[in-house]
Amino acid sequence: MHNIKPFPQPVYITQPLLPDIDDVKNMLSTIWQSKQLTNNGRMAIQLEKELAGFLKVNHLSLFSNGTVALQLAFRVLGLTGEVITTPFTFAATTHALVLNNLEPVFCDIEEDTFNINPDKIEALITPETTAILPVHVFGTPCKMDKIQRIAEKHGLKVVYDAAHAFGVEVTGRSIGSFGDISMFSFHATKIYHTIEGGALTFNDRHLKERADSLRNFGIKSEEFVAEPGTNGKMNELQAAVGILLLQIVGDEIKRRKEITGLYRELLKEIPGISFYGDMDGVTHNYPYFVIRVNKDYFGMSRNELYTLLKGYNIFSRKYFYPLCSQFPCYKNLPSASKDNLPIAENVVEEVLSLPLHGRLTNEEVEKICEIIIYKM
Ligand SMILES: *Cc1c(COP(=O)(O)O)cnc(C)c1O
Repeated sequence: MHNIKPFPQPVYITQPLLPDIDDVKNMLSTIWQSKQLTNNGRMAIQLEKELAGFLKVNHLSLFSNGTVALQLAFRVLGLTGEVITTPFTFAATTHALVLNNLEPVFCDIEEDTFNINPDKIEALITPETTAILPVHVFGTPCKMDKIQRIAEKHGLKVVYDAAHAFGVEVTGRSIGSFGDISMFSFHATKIYHTIEGGALTFNDRHLKERADSLRNFGIKSEEFVAEPGTNGKMNELQAAVGILLLQIVGDEIKRRKEITGLYRELLKEIPGISFYGDMDGVTHNYPYFVIRVNKDYFGMSRNELYTLLKGYNIFSRKYFYPLCSQFPCYKNLPSASKDNLPIAENVVEEVLSLPLHGRLTNEEVEKICEIIIYKM
């Protein structure tokens, strides 16, 4: 019979991509010599330029983290009232709205992409609605064309939470070039990171100028403060790490693609386990490997599988359980009702993210799959 031993060391869902330590030391020397640690220094200016090129976007601004970036995107666009968004996302998406005095209106998601369902957006629009905030969940592109058509018809802005979508392209076009503004998170747990950090991407140069001012207290010049801004600047050490990681993130994505292929191959014929494949015309970035567990066919629930894996020292995650609409702070919103979100309510009980990062070995993936296959 199968006698599988637990992993001697914990296998986590992810592990940060790390630059070579000697390269970091060289960068630190350069920063020390410059005596500029923050305030749009050399490293930050260089990284902004390199990232705009890498992501193939017209304009890009760096921030201290993705959440601050998202909040400033709403400020730049002058949003008020209600914003239609998805409940199946990380807490920061919804929190950023509320911290800007905007009311989240939850829209249900699609069964096959886990993204906001554009066909359910229009019914949620009221005279108070000023924008749509979709999320490219797990790096899977939203239906941008449909969303754009709805936005134009109703005069709404579109801000994409592209925190998971670094490097994703749709028919050669950057995911960051859709809508009015896109937000990327460069948190250490993301595929590409600056320890903590984030960016906004824009097609319109004026929006970037406004965001740059707002991330620096609204200061225009030594003696002129134009508006109430915040402190959202990326410092030079963060930017230096970002410059180094930009050189290796391509290899990281390649390795993740291989691992994803291996998972798909090993799990493809397990009754009750499903996952999505690559989409036509899309360059994916493989940030998570997510399976959906159908208890009736698999014979074990998602929660039982999560616990089983834990027993083997494997730390999967139930992203994004609970839904944002189930948080105590949001569950009383009218749009948070279960009747409004049937697909999201169902999906969130069945999904499980398995370990995925570039340092994971094929043997580790094979063992994880064996445990899933034999349920022991
Ligand atoms: C990580 C994440 C954020 C927040 O980004 P931070 O850089 O951690 O502030 C926002 N939205 C989603 C979907 C995320 O995964």
